[in-house]
Amino acid sequence: MRQKIVAGNWKMNQTIDTAGTLLNEIVALHAQLEHSSKVTTVICPPYLVIPSCAQLLSGKDGIFCGAQNCHNEDKGAYTGEISAEMIATAGSQYVILGHSERRMYFKEDAIFLKKKVQACLSHNLIPIFCCGEIQAERESGKHQEVVEAQIREALFSFTADEMLMLVIAYEPVWAIGTGLTASPAQAQEMHHFIRSILQKQYGSAVAEAIPILYGGSCNAANAEELFSQADVDGGLIGGASLKSADFIAIISAAIKTSNL
Ligand code: PEP
Repeated sequence: MRQKIVAGNWKMNQTIDTAGTLLNEIVALHAQLEHSSKVTTVICPPYLVIPSCAQLLSGKDGIFCGAQNCHNEDKGAYTGEISAEMIATAGSQYVILGHSERRMYFKEDAIFLKKKVQACLSHNLIPIFCCGEIQAERESGKHQEVVEAQIREALFSFTADEMLMLVIAYEPVWAIGTGLTASPAQAQEMHHFIRSILQKQYGSAVAEAIPILYGGSCNAANAEELFSQADVDGGLIGGASLKSADFIAIISAAIKTSNL
């Protein structure tokens, strides 16, 4: 049985001051949730906020800090970059990798992402590996082929044990920040497909154990129906993670739909 995960991707939002206020609100509301430990909650703020976020969440049940990206090298002449080692030693446990905005604006490809996944695993960080098709690919019926290639090229050189460290997030690009959400049936179809390709490569036990999150305009109103789908193990949340009440409502939906 897989534990549901709700991860908030703050993207390039919040200053140190406003982040502190939002974090305190989320922590206070999270502490009031019944059965909050049924769900793993992850907050991925900008890098600058990671140390204070990790410190605030340290020792709290079921709520962790994550990063939105990392570089694959531990150190060196990579001006402006942050390594997995830096993120791990700052107190994060998770790292989002391969978000469509990184693929689109920073041209991150499968070879680079594979190295980033490796760097995270070397520092005991859990990668949240994002995949998803653009609108034209869905309209031309290529969405499964595209997602399969993203997963195969970046991940299938890892061993079964390494794969068991991963979280996958299916994020149709046409649904990110647009207000368009995949229907629960579309999300379930793709999540089931992803699990089937994991099963072919690694067998049922691994495929059944890997959490697959949905991301793309997931909000307080649609989370419960999305999370009720058999292969949807929670969500990667952008815009709605910046409002404490909305984010907590999404965590509540994950608690409600938890099988644990
Ligand atoms: C995201 O960027 O990962 C995301 C899912 O964004 P939003 O929820 O705003 O669509």
